[in-house]
Amino acid sequence: MEGPQRITGTDMLTFGEGRKTVTDLYREELARILEVDVRRVSLYWKGRVALFALLKAMNVGKGDEVLLPAYTCVVVPNAIMYLGAKPVYVDIERDTLCMNVSEIESRITPKTRVILAQNTFGLSAGVDDIARLGKKYGIHTIEDCTHGFGGAYNGTPNGTVCDAAFYSSQWNKPFSTGIGGISVVNNEDVLSNLDRVNSDLVSPGVYETINLAALQIFARHVLDTRLYWSLVDIYRKLSKTGFVVGSSSGPELEGIMPNKYFKGFSQIQAKEGVAQLRRFGRILGERKGVAARYGNALEERGKRCVPRCLYGNHSFLRYPVWLKDKKRFFDSARKARVKVGDWFMSPLHPVVNNLERWGFNEAEYPVAVHAARHVANLVPDVREESGTLALIESEASNIL
Ligand SMILES: *Cc1c(COP(=O)(O)O)cnc(C)c1O
Repeated sequence: MEGPQRITGTDMLTFGEGRKTVTDLYREELARILEVDVRRVSLYWKGRVALFALLKAMNVGKGDEVLLPAYTCVVVPNAIMYLGAKPVYVDIERDTLCMNVSEIESRITPKTRVILAQNTFGLSAGVDDIARLGKKYGIHTIEDCTHGFGGAYNGTPNGTVCDAAFYSSQWNKPFSTGIGGISVVNNEDVLSNLDRVNSDLVSPGVYETINLAALQIFARHVLDTRLYWSLVDIYRKLSKTGFVVGSSSGPELEGIMPNKYFKGFSQIQAKEGVAQLRRFGRILGERKGVAARYGNALEERGKRCVPRCLYGNHSFLRYPVWLKDKKRFFDSARKARVKVGDWFMSPLHPVVNNLERWGFNEAEYPVAVHAARHVANLVPDVREESGTLALIESEASNIL
C-alpha cells in the first residue's frame, strides 16, 4: 500500500499550506501516532539524552533521588547521576518484569523528585498507580517507553499517562533511525522548562552524521537473520573501539558522562524515521501475532509465559522466556542462527561488574537479579518465527 517515502534534494517538502522540513514532518507523524499535540514532541540524538533533558526540566539536581526499576539499561541511572542525583532502585515483578508498584512507597523519601516507570519488553504495567503515587507525594513521573513506542496502556498510547515520557529509535527498538531519542511532555510547567533546557543541545558533528548513515545501513541488514550473529559480533567490536557510534561508549559503561552528550537530532535521523513510521503499524501488528504464537508454544509445554490478561497492554517488542541455563540457550540459538535478545544480561544492562558504582546493591533486588540470570527475550519478527519455534522445541527441557 504505502512504499517507503522518498525525500530528496534539500530535505524540504511542500505540504499543504507551506514548506516543512523533514524534521517537522517526523515530529508531526510521531505526534499523530502518540495522539499528542506536536509542540509536546522533542527530538534528541538518543533516548538517554531525552531522559536527561526531562530530568533537567523537572529540576532534578544534586542530592535529589529518582526511583527507577532495578532491571534497566545502565544509561538510565547514568542520566540521573550526570545531574548529581541518586538512582534509587525498586525491584520488579516476576510476571511483568516491570517495577513492583507495591514496593515504591517504601523507597520514597523527602528527596525523591521523580518516579520512572518502564515498559519492559513493550509491556506497560501499573502506570496509573505510579501516576497516582506521583500526585499523592508531589513527585513527577516519567515513562521509559524505549520498548513501548506505539503500544498502549488500558487503551491510552504509552507515554501519555505520566508527566512525560521518552522513547528510543536505536536499531533494536520498536522502530529504528539507527540511533535516536524522543520526548513527550504532558505537564505544562515541565514543557516550558524543557524549551529552555533544549536550547543547550549541541548539533551532531559531520563525523557522527556520516557514522550514523553507516549504522542505519547496518541496522537494515541486522534485520536479516542470516547475517545477524556475524554482524552483531562485528558491531560490538567496532563500537567498543569507538570506531562506530555504538549504543554505549566506554565511559558510559563506567558511569562517566561522555563529551558532547547533550546532543540534538539530525535530518538524517528524521528522514529514516519518516520512512520507518510508514511501515510501523504493520510491523507492530505482525509482532503481536508472532508473540502470541510464541506464547501458545510455551503454554502448550507448560512453560512460564506472559499472562494473557496482560496482552492488551503489551506491544511485544520482545517475548521473555525463563531458562535454567541461559548460556546453553544462547549457544543453541547461535548454532541455529536464530536471533535472540540478551537484554537484560545484568540488572543494569550491559554492565556486569561493580554495580555499586551505580548505587545498586544486588541483595536488595532479588527478582531483578534472578531475572537477569534466567530471562532471555525472543524476537517476535516474522522472519524469526519458524527458527524461534524450533528453538523452543529443541530447548524445551531448558525452559522453565
Ligand atoms: C535502549 C534503552 C534506553 C536508552 O535508549 P537509547 O536511545 O539507546 O539512549 C533506555 N532505557 C531502556 C530500558 C532501554 O532499553
